[in-house]
Amino acid sequence: MRIRENLTQVEERIARACQSCGRRREEITLVAVSKVFPAEALIEAYEAGLREFGENYVQEFEGKHPLVKHLTGARFHLIGHLQSNKSRKAAEMFDVIQTVDSAKLARRLQECGKALDVMIEVKLSEEDAKHGCAPEAVGEVADAIRECGALTLRGLMTMPPWDDNAEAARPYFRRLRELGVRLGLPAGLSMGMSHDFETAIQEGATHIRVGTALFGKRVKRAA
Ligand SMILES: *Cc1c(COP(=O)(O)O)cnc(C)c1O
Repeated sequence: MRIRENLTQVEERIARACQSCGRRREEITLVAVSKVFPAEALIEAYEAGLREFGENYVQEFEGKHPLVKHLTGARFHLIGHLQSNKSRKAAEMFDVIQTVDSAKLARRLQECGKALDVMIEVKLSEEDAKHGCAPEAVGEVADAIRECGALTLRGLMTMPPWDDNAEAARPYFRRLRELGVRLGLPAGLSMGMSHDFETAIQEGATHIRVGTALFGKRVKRAA
């Protein structure tokens, strides 16, 4: 793998995007999305300097976690849908749950008792069947999270409908930011992936979730 070279290119893209909108690099957390790749890839990415990792599947990460949990300063973000029956396992392994989408899930995480940073996943488009709570329900989920002493709300996360044109995502990114502002939520915004993170940075992203541009193309996950 050539993660180090890929990271250099990703950092160049981030720097240009920051320049294009007058933001500072330190405002943006690069989350390396390592789903499907083995623990060795995370370790290689760690050695290249990456510290924040995103995984989609609790079960898949159970296999890798024992091999990466010793990495000092590494933080693990769950960025895939979380079923509440897996919340305990998720709370044990992850530092950040970006995909809280109901008051019920927030309370299940609270019951685990571990301090966690959380984001609310918002579904901004009707046409795709992605997870996330409706924009109208975000206030209620935020209230529930505030009542959970173990959870710290950091902001919002979204995944727009797939479109290989990065400009197509811009209205979704903008709406996510506006929603957070309107509800007076913490300023975290997790949005933007390999092909559209420049647009996301221009629209205020604080966390970009980058897989392919760092690790290469994913081959289909074995069932
Ligand atoms: C896979 C995934 C990413 C990374 O996508 P790339 O296009 O490989 O950068 C980001 N966010 C979520 C929620 C994902 O599932």
